[in-house]
Formats: sequence, C-alpha cells, structure tokens
Amino acid sequence: MRIPLSRTIIRNSIWISTAFFSFLVIFNILIYIVVKYQLTSVLDAKIRHEIEHIVSSFKVKDRAIEIIRPEEFLESDLVRITDNTFFLQIYTIEGKILLGSENLKYFSQIPLAYPEFTDNEYFDDSETKTEVVRTGYAKLINDDGEHFGYVQLSFRREKLVAALKSILSYTLLILPFVLIIIIALSIFISRRLFQPINKIIETANNISAVNLKERLQLDSDPNDEINKLKITLNNLFERLEVQIQQISAFSDNASHQLMTPLTAISSELEFALTKKKYHGEIKQSLEVVKEQSDRMISIVKSLLLISRTGRDSGQSNMIFNLTSLFEKHIKILFPQQRIYYFISNNLYVRGKEENFIIVIENLIGNALKYSSEDDIIEVISNSSNGCINVIVKDKGIGIADSEKEKVFERFYRSESAEKIGIVGYGLGLSIVKSIVISMNGKIQVSDNSPKGTIFCITLPYIKIEE
Ligand code: ADP
Repeated sequence: MRIPLSRTIIRNSIWISTAFFSFLVIFNILIYIVVKYQLTSVLDAKIRHEIEHIVSSFKVKDRAIEIIRPEEFLESDLVRITDNTFFLQIYTIEGKILLGSENLKYFSQIPLAYPEFTDNEYFDDSETKTEVVRTGYAKLINDDGEHFGYVQLSFRREKLVAALKSILSYTLLILPFVLIIIIALSIFISRRLFQPINKIIETANNISAVNLKERLQLDSDPNDEINKLKITLNNLFERLEVQIQQISAFSDNASHQLMTPLTAISSELEFALTKKKYHGEIKQSLEVVKEQSDRMISIVKSLLLISRTGRDSGQSNMIFNLTSLFEKHIKILFPQQRIYYFISNNLYVRGKEENFIIVIENLIGNALKYSSEDDIIEVISNSSNGCINVIVKDKGIGIADSEKEKVFERFYRSESAEKIGIVGYGLGLSIVKSIVISMNGKIQVSDNSPKGTIFCITLPYIKIEE
C-alpha cells in the first residue's frame, strides 16, 4: 500500500531527519576532536623522543652546555628542511641562545617562550610568520638544581593540519549527500511507522462505508498500542451497528405500519372522488387530502427504501452489465427526446442492479424536474483512469455552492427549488448517495456551463473478458 506524504508523515520525517542529522554532526565533531587529539599525541611523542636524544647529547656546566655527541646535532633532520624537520633552540631564561639547529637559518623565526611547567616537559603550538609548528620544551637544570634555560624543539605540523583539513573537507563534501539519504530514510521510516495506522484507517473507512458487520483483524499481543486502537474501534463499530439496526428497524416498522392506513385512505379518497354527490368545495377539499396522502405515501416509500438500502449495506458480490441496464431499463423509463444517452459498451460494476436503477432514476428524474422542458439532458457512462463514470448533466436551475453538500442530507431541499415550488421530499439524493457508497463509489456534484448541474458517480472498474 502506497502511503501518501501527509502532513503528519512530513512532520515526522522532519523530526527524524533533524535528529539523525544532529547526531551525525555531533558525531563528526567528536571524531574531529579525537583525531586531532590522537595526531597531536603522536607528534608530541615524536618530539619527546627527540628531546631525550638531544638532552643526552650535551652536558650542563654552570649556566652553559657542553656538547658530548656533536654528530647528534649534525643529523639531517636538524640540518635540512624537509617534512620531518626538527628545529632546535637551547636558550637561557634571559633569552640568550646557547645552541640553535642549522636549519633555523632557512626557516622563519620560532619565538622563544618561557613556559612555567611543573613536569619535565611542556608542549604547545608556536606561531612563526609562515606556519604553525608544534613545540616541545624541556628544562635546563644545572648542578645546583637551578632551572636556568630551555631546550625548545619544534616540528612542522603541516602534515597534521593537512590530514585534519582533508577530514573536514571530506565531511563537508559528503554531508549534502548524507542529508539527502537521511531525508529519504526518514520518509521511509515514517511511512513504515504509519503503515499499520493507514491500514486501520482504510479498513475502518471500508467498514463504516460498506459493511458494518466487518471488524478489524486483531493481533496476538493485546497490550500493543495498535491492537488497543483496533479493539476500541471494533467496540465503536459494534455499538454503531446495534444503533443503526435499531434505528433502521424502527423506521422500517413505522413505515410499514403507516403504509397500510395511508394506502387505504388514498384508495377510499379515490373512490369518494368518483362519486357525483361530492362536488364544489367538498370535492376540492377531498382532492387536497388525496394529494397530501399521496405525498405521504411517497415519503413513506422513500423511507422504506432508505432502511432497505441501509440494511443490506454489505458489499454485494454480484456484477451487472451497466450498458444493458441503460438499454433495458433506463432508456425505457426515460424515453424523452431531450435526453441524450452516451453509453460505452461492456461496462460492468459490482453491486445490486435494482439499487443502481433507483440511483439513475433519481438523477434523471431530478434533471427533468429541475430544468425546463426544452433543455437537453446528457447521460454519459464510460470508463477512464481505471474507474467507471456515470454522469448526468442538465441545464436547469443549478445548485448553489453552499448547498452542494447539503442536498445529500435527508429532507434537505434547496432554497431555489422551494421558491419555484417544484414538488419534492428531499430524500432522493440521500438514497442515491447511500447506494453509491455501498457500491464502493463516490458521487460529486458540480456546475454545468453556462447553467445547470452535473452529477458524477465514480465506481470501481470491473474487468470482464467476453
Ligand atoms: P427532491 O428532489 O425530492 O427534493 P432530492 O434528494 O432528490 O429530493 O434532491 C434534494 C435537493 O437537491 C432538491 O430539493 C433540489 O433542491 C436539489 N437538486 C437535486 N437535483 C437537482 C438538479 N438536477 N438541479 C437542481 N437542483 C437539484
């Protein structure tokens, strides 16, 4: 089932994406910090190791140094400038340089620093004019235990900076793609999350529209939230079904009880009106009473029809040929010249044929009733986009936008119809709608151009090989 991108799903996806993305950004920042720390530690270890070598290559005498292994200071990494170059400066706390490595001549000046450290070593970044170098310090201590100077050894940090820069630029480069993947993933997750709820909505809609006897399938875990929702809805359907049955039984009984006396009154009046002794005002009164009782009979008949269509709300398994329904019934019931039929061949729908005849009868009946005698009416039936359409178009009085929904309510009659004085009971369209819904279809009303009304029924397409 394809779940549409509803507002809830979009909102949910935004939340999930934001959470994922924030987590990713924080994770990346942490990785950056850890990598930087690790690389710096490796660098510091290298400097420490070299300082140890250097310190063991000279002796301290008073406030001076005496070199005991000069070859140590002539090693290429203290003489030339390469990627692995060290820069050495040994100086007193007064700033007097006691020894400087050869390669310092070709490099920007490394500032002398006098850090106060309790341990034997200290590491820091030193800024030269051209680049930042990592620098380690060791104390120069004479025989009296006096701290009189520093051994400062610097190492180029460029490799480390380059490594960090490439981590950063790779991260920034892949971030937009990762964001797209995260958004797609969030939408997928949200859709999956809402899938069971959408399934419930679909089944519940089907139950309330088509078959009140059906129930939602429960899962095995009674404590599951979705299962609890299903149980609540099933209880609601149970109550609804009982109440609808009671209402329907009441209106059914009432209509049946009313039908007998009303038909008796109508036939008695019909008989009385044939008698010559009733004339003048009495005859007129009898005619009015007869008209009103016939009106009541029509209403009661409609109520019986409503309770019948309401009762057999379960979806029918019967399939009928819509094309032949028009040929065999509708065109005979409505042979008027002003009705133009455009009916496609081989149209099949699921439902009860006798009920659908009532639908078409009502729509064409209304089209005739609410338009003038020389207005044409079009009745179209065809299939498009995997649906069957049945359309009735007239050029009559039309229905105001504010009333387009209301005309399907029981006993509702439009203001204009009432004003003109066209007789009706406001029950036909409510019967039409309940039959169409029972067939899993939809009915819509819109304006015809330049005037009039269009009723359009859409039903599921049934494919039958002939
Ligand atoms: P009735 O026609 O008996 O009053 P319906 O339920 O068939 O009852 O229609 C409800 C109302 O909808 C009508 O009273 C009328 O105002 C309006 N209506 C229905 N069909 C048409 C139509 N083809 N053109 C204009 N108004 C219509």
